[in-house]
Amino acid sequence: MAITNSPEDRSALGARLQAVEQRLAAACAAAGRDRSEVRLLPVSKTHPIELVREAAAHGHRLFGENKVQELQRKCAERDEDDDFGFSMIGHLQTNKAKVVAELADEFQALDSLRIAEALDRRLQPLGRRLPVLIQVNTSGEPQKHGVAPDEVMGLARQLAACDALDVRGLMTVAIKADQQQVGACFDRLVQLQRELRDALALGSSWSELSMGMSGDLELAIAHGSTCVRVGTAIFGARDYGTAD
Ligand SMILES: *Cc1c(COP(=O)(O)O)cnc(C)c1O
Repeated sequence: MAITNSPEDRSALGARLQAVEQRLAAACAAAGRDRSEVRLLPVSKTHPIELVREAAAHGHRLFGENKVQELQRKCAERDEDDDFGFSMIGHLQTNKAKVVAELADEFQALDSLRIAEALDRRLQPLGRRLPVLIQVNTSGEPQKHGVAPDEVMGLARQLAACDALDVRGLMTVAIKADQQQVGACFDRLVQLQRELRDALALGSSWSELSMGMSGDLELAIAHGSTCVRVGTAIFGARDYGTAD
């Protein structure tokens, strides 16, 4: 059942957030990690601004969206009391870079130099810097967005020229399969981060590993995730046939 904006559903949102918090705390404890090492990015795509506001009242400041049009609409719906922003977590086309440069507070789906350059060009005149993560296609599924693992190093080197991009690390959407295959996707991301850090002398920067969603956040945390992107477990089922 999708959550609506009724009072009952708004309190359901509080309960779901609490349940997700408990899962995060348990997963961190099981992995011997501090809860502060993992941020929760609630994914608000398809859900109304009222629910975003409600989740913001529980202390969240950044919400995941995967469509430029919806990002634009939700930003327009914000009023001056609203103290939250959006992280773009979906594939971006170069002709929409302007919108993301102007409105997003983070971009987790960087998957080509063309997009990086388009964003950089739009950000420069605004005097904005945008935190970005490179999306990696760790499962190799042809329908998935993201840079192929063996192309990440090349892209990473080229990004140095884009001053307005603040590269924070890597993001992936794991395959929907058994735990072993999902875990292999997460391990691939961790391994890539290690290789990048060694090759580019990144030290402890590029520290973000955005991996794990409603169904696999425990496994992702066990594998070293620093950001879980959680939609369904917080906001309920999405109102369209083909959730991606
Ligand atoms: C929708 C989406 C999520 C959230 O998925 P849930 O399974 O609903 O938690 C996470 N990451 C990306 C990139 C998404 O598009």
